Amino acid sequence: MSNASATPIPTSTPNAPSTPNAPTPPGAPSASALPNGGRPRPDGRRASVLVSGAGIAGTALAYWLERYGFHVTVVERAPSLRGGGQAVDIRGNALQVVERMGLLEEVRARRTGLRGMSLVDSDGRELSRTTEWTVSGGPVGGPDVEILRDELAELVAGAAGPGIEYRFGDSIDTLVQYRDGVQVRFRSGTERSFDLVVGADGLHSNTRRLVFGPEDDYLHAIDSYIAGWSVPNHLGLDRWEIVHEPGGRAEWSCLVMTARGNTELRVFVGFRSDEPLDRMLPRDRVEQRRLIAERCAHLGWEVPHFLRGMWETDAFHYDVVAQIRMDRWSNDRVALLGDAGYCCSPFTGQGTSVALTAAYVLAGELHAADGDHRTAFPAYERRLRDHVTANQAILELTAPRYGGDAAPAPRADGGQPGAEGVPGFDAPGPEMEAAFRAATLFDLPDY
Ligand SMILES: Cc1cc2nc3c(=O)[nH]c(=O)nc-3n(C[C@H](O)[C@H](O)[C@H](O)COP(=O)(O)OP(=O)(O)OC[C@H]3O[C@@H](n4cnc5c(N)ncnc54)[C@H](O)[C@@H]3O)c2cc1C
Repeated sequence: MSNASATPIPTSTPNAPSTPNAPTPPGAPSASALPNGGRPRPDGRRASVLVSGAGIAGTALAYWLERYGFHVTVVERAPSLRGGGQAVDIRGNALQVVERMGLLEEVRARRTGLRGMSLVDSDGRELSRTTEWTVSGGPVGGPDVEILRDELAELVAGAAGPGIEYRFGDSIDTLVQYRDGVQVRFRSGTERSFDLVVGADGLHSNTRRLVFGPEDDYLHAIDSYIAGWSVPNHLGLDRWEIVHEPGGRAEWSCLVMTARGNTELRVFVGFRSDEPLDRMLPRDRVEQRRLIAERCAHLGWEVPHFLRGMWETDAFHYDVVAQIRMDRWSNDRVALLGDAGYCCSPFTGQGTSVALTAAYVLAGELHAADGDHRTAFPAYERRLRDHVTANQAILELTAPRYGGDAAPAPRADGGQPGAEGVPGFDAPGPEMEAAFRAATLFDLPDY
């Protein structure tokens, strides 16, 4: 063996500095076997890229990188593409990205197509209705596309070429950067070396923790929590959304919307709490369900039925409403993408659009730089920083509407608010419209 075999593998410690000049560790391909600066390998392929996370950001990045001739491996902790989630919005420049992926027609065909929404009280009495807006998707019949998150992920992953290797049910355990690549040990025990690693593993990114340090340094939470899951459409709703907000928007809300050809209801509950984050976010999914069941036990209407259904589905999602704010999105050969690097939060409605645009730009910059991360990663950040900042700023406007920090006090008479007091029933004011316009305009480069 070469000298390298005598070199111990450095342990991956949080916030470990990049070690670009470190020698090649044992088990990794020798420097001469690695492509330099992304030049094509003998098989004609370019640099190898490991993408952690098969959400929208990860699958979209994989799509573009594969198309540009990179070796792409995607590692996803879940056993398959994750189901569940509510609808997400694609608007502005992100629609252009989808069009460039050849998916615009399919995405439009799968839009939720909601016709409107009702507000109901604890007994299920309809207090008001509108066919102009929905809380989840904004104006009915507008140019934006509202689509279920899991359906979009399926479409994007399905559109990609056959060259992508997926490792489901696995995750990065340790990650060490050295001069010519990144040595990765997976939780399954497998060790491999890649030229580059991209963390697209969401709000609680594992890659971010391993390379940039603890989550606490970057996570800005507002005191709101959301959970979502699916139940059969026992209400017989037809492309409709129902909102139930006992006590006004500040404290609790339950929203359901029809999905998958009216066969399902996607249920979403949101509530506020100023208790410590670690108490509110247990890691165990059974504990999470138990917490939701307790917190929502007092809610009326159909909520008790939905809570029973929560125990019968795997497609369950629960998290804090938060943003990720970082000064840098890359460290040598490792970059962050989407929620992992700059989560905007569901209250902006922009996380998916930003992720689609960012995946397009990151892959495009790597392509333009022939795989040289020293050029591509800073260029990716330069192009996107202002766009991300504009999108994250939307939270300041929407948090009060959705019961975040600056939520209005409950009504003094303790009664149910009418339509005028419900988010989404009010048309967004000019300030919010201007913010959305600015945030969804991005000059998409050609690569
Ligand atoms: C199940 C789910 C439901 C959601 N529901 C909504 C919603 O209703 N409304 C909304 O606005 N936004 C929702 N979001 C967030 C929204 O999808 C994102 O803001 C946006 O699409 C950008 O996504 P992303 O790919 O950056 O991150 P995410 O969508 O969070 O995807 C990250 C992926 O990384 C995987 N992952 C996490 N940790 C690891 C690890 N250690 N190793 C490997 N893989 C890992 C996750 O399983 C996931 O597939 C949801 C996210 C998830 C995961």
